[in-house]
Amino acid sequence: MTQILEHWIDGKAWPGESTRTAPVFDPALGTPQREVRMATATDVGTAVAAAAAALPQWRDSSIATRSRFLLTFRELLNARKDDLAQILTAEHGKVLSDAGGEIARGLEVVEFALAMPQLLKGEFSQNVSTDVDVYSVREPVGVVGIISPFNFPAMVPLWFFPIAIAAGNTVVLKPSEKDPSAANWLAELAAEAGLPAGVLNVVHGDKEAVDALLVHPDVAAISFVGSTPIARYVYQTAAANDKRVQALGGAKNHMLVLPDADLDLAADAAVNAGFGSAGERCMAVSALLAVDSIADELVAKIAERMSELRTGDGRRGCDMGPLITREHRDKVAGYLDVAATDGATIVVDGRETSIDGAAEGFWLGPTLIDNVPTSSAVYQDEIFGPVLSVVRMNGFEEGIELINSSPYGNGVAIFTNDGGAARQFQRRVTVGMIGINVPIPVPVAYHSFGGHKASIFGDAKAYGPQGFSFFTQEKAITSRWLDPSHGGINLGFPQHS
Ligand code: NAD
Repeated sequence: MTQILEHWIDGKAWPGESTRTAPVFDPALGTPQREVRMATATDVGTAVAAAAAALPQWRDSSIATRSRFLLTFRELLNARKDDLAQILTAEHGKVLSDAGGEIARGLEVVEFALAMPQLLKGEFSQNVSTDVDVYSVREPVGVVGIISPFNFPAMVPLWFFPIAIAAGNTVVLKPSEKDPSAANWLAELAAEAGLPAGVLNVVHGDKEAVDALLVHPDVAAISFVGSTPIARYVYQTAAANDKRVQALGGAKNHMLVLPDADLDLAADAAVNAGFGSAGERCMAVSALLAVDSIADELVAKIAERMSELRTGDGRRGCDMGPLITREHRDKVAGYLDVAATDGATIVVDGRETSIDGAAEGFWLGPTLIDNVPTSSAVYQDEIFGPVLSVVRMNGFEEGIELINSSPYGNGVAIFTNDGGAARQFQRRVTVGMIGINVPIPVPVAYHSFGGHKASIFGDAKAYGPQGFSFFTQEKAITSRWLDPSHGGINLGFPQHS
């Protein structure tokens, strides 16, 4: 009998009322391994009710209680990260070492959330007027909905729920239905670490479940990560329902290589950032902007490195795994036809890569396309696969212009040995995360993660100070302890004396 992954509500696996399920594939095998339950709006309501019921006690628990839970959770997660990596590889397809990297970056956010006692300290101004003190405190916002994408099934939930929970909120997490098991694994681990039932709930599903969260009156805030059209929709719908929203969207990340750059470093970086996780990263480099004078040499160096990559089953020590679904694989491969039609040069064709894995897996090898016209969909679309496009240009100014004309503004990188050029680049690009001789500039957990333009909707980035701010709301208190010398009627606006 096919195993069904259930929701995790109020501290236990829970099937809900829905009979609808969806298959969960192992992309390296190309076959479904299990089914996942798809929630109805009523099921989501049950999860929200559990989170709402758990809120008063959790919100009022001591900071010490919440910190101790988080510390235990961090220790358990670190001790069992290899088990989680196996789940990530089996459902997402990324190679085991990359799954380990994803978990390490998630652990960093748990460690950041351990600073909650410090973050929650608030501010105090004594005697702002005679015998009057003003202080501010930050309190949890309430029940938080987190909706995450397929490409980081552990890290993206970990960007949000440790901070939300440590700040005293309760959570309903809706992970991607394509690789849902990591969310249950994390919720069960949290329960083992001592988290009370109802504080962290997981509902599985698709649009129906997401829509139910976006309009539910007892959900105070929504954190979303996914593609731009859905991020925009989530932002608009949740905001129209009076919720606080942060919605991180898609990307098309550029890497500009100037003639004075170390070309070996740049070639390594382009390969790592273009093909890691089969290009299914929102910070993947997708468009390589090469200045004409060094473009031939750079393309040759990249192609040479690509010939050493092994594509195959992530459990076999390969460098790159499969894509998430057969449909997505076919869509990405379709861009090779578009490239040929649009007059680009296919330097390395991933359809011809020999694969170390099952024949039915969702494979496409690393692909390099040169001379891509900027009018081509190959350049314009977020392909989200192992396809690196080279756009040739005459210099720095053309690169800046192209980067800033993109509707997205998530990540960008420049490779150069000219500090002045790098500095000017950093100041002029309309992009949220910038790498200088660093290809995937994902900020550490104590800075915040997020892009500009259509890569984010709402004004709070993920994790770091902005993540903390998003999951808390401030109260400012003005107090005066009675002094017989004060008082009397005064209809003027309060002033200080
Ligand atoms: P997606 O937008 O298809 O799905 C994201 C979430 O939204 C999933 O939980 C899914 O179930 C739900 N969803 C899908 N369609 C929906 C609809 N019509 N209505 C309501 N909810 C819906 O994204 P994906 O394919 O899972 O993930 C890849 C995308 O995520 C890429 O565009 C990538 O750039 C982006 N991403 C962005 C960041 C970032 O930080 N900016 C990080 C990771 C991924």
